[in-house]
Amino acid sequence: MLSFSSSKSFTTAKGFPNLHSLSNPFSDSISLRLNPPTILNLGSKSLQITAIDAAQPYDYETQLRTQFNKSNNLKIAIIGFGNFGQFLAKTFVKQGHTVLAHSRSNYVDIARKLGVSFFQDPHDLCEEHPEVVLLCSSILSTKSVLKSLPFQRLRRNTLFVDVLSVKEFPRNLFLETLPAEFDILCTHPMFGPESGKKGWAGLPFVYDKVRIGNDEFRMARCSKFLDIFAREGCRMVEMTCAEHDKYAAGSQFITHTMGRVLERFGLESTEINTKGYETLLNLVENTAGDSFDLYYGLFVYNNNAMEQLERLDMAFESIKKEIFGYMHRLYRKQLFEDEGGLGVSKDKKVGQKLLYGGSALELPSDTLPPNGAAREPPSETVKQTP
Ligand code: NAP
Repeated sequence: MLSFSSSKSFTTAKGFPNLHSLSNPFSDSISLRLNPPTILNLGSKSLQITAIDAAQPYDYETQLRTQFNKSNNLKIAIIGFGNFGQFLAKTFVKQGHTVLAHSRSNYVDIARKLGVSFFQDPHDLCEEHPEVVLLCSSILSTKSVLKSLPFQRLRRNTLFVDVLSVKEFPRNLFLETLPAEFDILCTHPMFGPESGKKGWAGLPFVYDKVRIGNDEFRMARCSKFLDIFAREGCRMVEMTCAEHDKYAAGSQFITHTMGRVLERFGLESTEINTKGYETLLNLVENTAGDSFDLYYGLFVYNNNAMEQLERLDMAFESIKKEIFGYMHRLYRKQLFEDEGGLGVSKDKKVGQKLLYGGSALELPSDTLPPNGAAREPPSETVKQTP
């Protein structure tokens, strides 16, 4: 703080502040903040600075705030610079944001090509005072990654965002781990490097403002971050983390499961692909690039995933039972009508072959009972017959 002897006649002439509004009624001294310390010449009067004993008028936080308010650009630190982190960084850079990154592996070269500053040491990154810290680490590693960050090196109220494909888990983790004055925004861009490679227009972006300080600056910072996705044309969907997880288990987890099942099944493109088959091929393509960690995280960290997996399994069994049952009834009917109810037709052999599991197994003729009565299937295939 700046102190000097009082001057009651001091006015706002020449653009100086009105010191009467700053004067202390109990003393003859007046306080004024000036930087750098200086002597003010006011015509016949002059003011001599005698002491500076408090915060400077344009302190660091104030300067940052001013800069921030003028610009739409954010300084965003991406933690976890793998597949998805790099994918997001491209759009952030394209929109003019300053992007910093830190990851377990060294991505210096990739980062340089993308226009991102890479920091091997999280302390160095935090000392850059990003406005937003964006967690893009795998679901499984997020807890240890978050706990390894030196929060004390960040700004007093940094905005923490995550993009994990499950939402209740990071929400609770953030609330438990982050200092109370940090803001929290949980998000899930419902697309990836494959499905979003041609742009994000129309793709859903789910978010939950878990804790955003009731202050103009903090609310504006959150809006600026969300605006990145809105500007790309995403369909912005605000919902709670719990709602997200309920819906996502039935949609996203099942999508990933079917993609993996079909990949393992070995779909191949042919010259006569139908539209439906193309859809299946696309599904495999969309999910094949995702890590197993991601899929496993969807299962373990979403309380609803197990129930959905069981429902899928039951639905598959029920479809199998339906078609096998239908065929079983058809062949029984043929068998008893064609042969007067007792004979063994050639068709029966084929029918049994299919009923015993659908494999290309030719039943030897000696497996048929001598009297032609229908034989029980082998015990290990009983489950598959209706
Ligand atoms: P991922 O396998 O889920 O995560 C890879 C990232 O996690 C990499 O940055 C990796 O760091 C880091 N990581 C993994 N294990 C680690 C450990 N033990 N310690 C420290 N870091 C570790 O693949 P992803 O596709 O990049 O997904 C990242 C996040 O985005 C996930 O939370 C995912 O749910 C979410 N997400 C992904 C998609 C998508 O389509 N891919 C869409 C929406 C949201 P290094 O590379 O340095 O080893």
